[in-house]
Amino acid sequence: MEFNIATIAGDGIGPEVVEETLLTLEEIGNAYNHKFNFHKVLAGGVAIDEKGEPLPKETIEVCSKSDAVLLGAVGGPQWDHLAGDQRPERALLGLRQALGLYANIRPAILYTALKESSPLRSDIVDEGIDLCVVRELTGGIYFGDRGRRVHETMGEEAYDTEAYSVGEVQRIAKTAFEIARTRNKKVMNIDKANVLESSRLWRSVVMEIAKDYPDVTLDHMYVDNAAMQLVKNPGQFDVVLTTNMFGDILSDEASMITGSIGMLPSASLGETGLGMYEPIHGSAPDITGENKANPLATILSAAMMLRLSLNLEKEAEAVEKAVTNVLEKGYRTADIMSVGMELVGTKQMGDLVRKELCQLLKTSNA
Ligand code: NAD
Repeated sequence: MEFNIATIAGDGIGPEVVEETLLTLEEIGNAYNHKFNFHKVLAGGVAIDEKGEPLPKETIEVCSKSDAVLLGAVGGPQWDHLAGDQRPERALLGLRQALGLYANIRPAILYTALKESSPLRSDIVDEGIDLCVVRELTGGIYFGDRGRRVHETMGEEAYDTEAYSVGEVQRIAKTAFEIARTRNKKVMNIDKANVLESSRLWRSVVMEIAKDYPDVTLDHMYVDNAAMQLVKNPGQFDVVLTTNMFGDILSDEASMITGSIGMLPSASLGETGLGMYEPIHGSAPDITGENKANPLATILSAAMMLRLSLNLEKEAEAVEKAVTNVLEKGYRTADIMSVGMELVGTKQMGDLVRKELCQLLKTSNA
């Protein structure tokens, strides 16, 4: 089959990790007889330097016509002096909005081989961590009415509004239930329904949607308890469904308990199959150009792309298995390094994953 993939390398370590990922996808294409057409477009700081804006029109056009978008990272200190709407990071919000990507999917997996990287006690992570945060991405308090006003007696005050429509909750809840069906069939809805009216509406809509998924178990948890349970007993979670702001906070917490930011992929999805796939880390200016960046988060994001946008499940599984095997053989980039393991750089880690892929494919064809 033939697929069009828009690629945005971005800034800092973005080009380094994207390069290893494109080579890995080419390997998959050769092995499974697919043609991936990569359309390289600009966004972020490099787009500001070359085109005068963080998200050129052409980038949006190419992305919206593609089957999927693969992004490295954007931003860096050289653009920090710019005003908010001109900064490289503005490209991310612009892309999400332009492509209608309302669901952010962040799996947080603690690989058995990386148990020692988790800041949690070994008895807590003994059974591993494998959860997936489904965060609403284009609504809630980050997009609600906001402003400043002068209060009669208290002086100046500022406000931000959390608002969710039934439709917005329905579509993200469906995404969570669909994903749960491909996993352990459990959804934990996280809200603050004991205090917030928007959470009460959110919860009632989630319960309605759950009726269409009788094979999936639905539970509810208040966000304050969820923050505690994630470090106390992360193994209890399968799919975590939550709002934009709660998801922002909880997905960072979930990623941290698995050890390294360099390992975690993400997907942003909308109504159509088109999705944007990117590692959760930033452009890491402190290690840019040093062949030190861990490319696995981006390679694993490409595996999500194969599964969720291109419908290539066995290809996605092959990439994930290759990553697991490389880790089990003891290879580590600096961010996940521990005593007795072999330290490798960005390029070598990419090569090892591709070598492992070839090995896996040979064995499965034998
Ligand atoms: P960061 O994620 O870039 O780096 C945080 C720390 O993690 C650094 O020490 C870095 O070296 C390390 N790190 C990150 N990715 C790594 C990898 N793949 N392998 C090994 N180590 C890795 O976060 P930051 O320093 O807060 O931000 C740097 C820039 O990135 C800023 O301009 C920020 O706005 C931007 N940013 C972009 C995105 C994005 O593009 N989605 C996300 C977060 C931050």
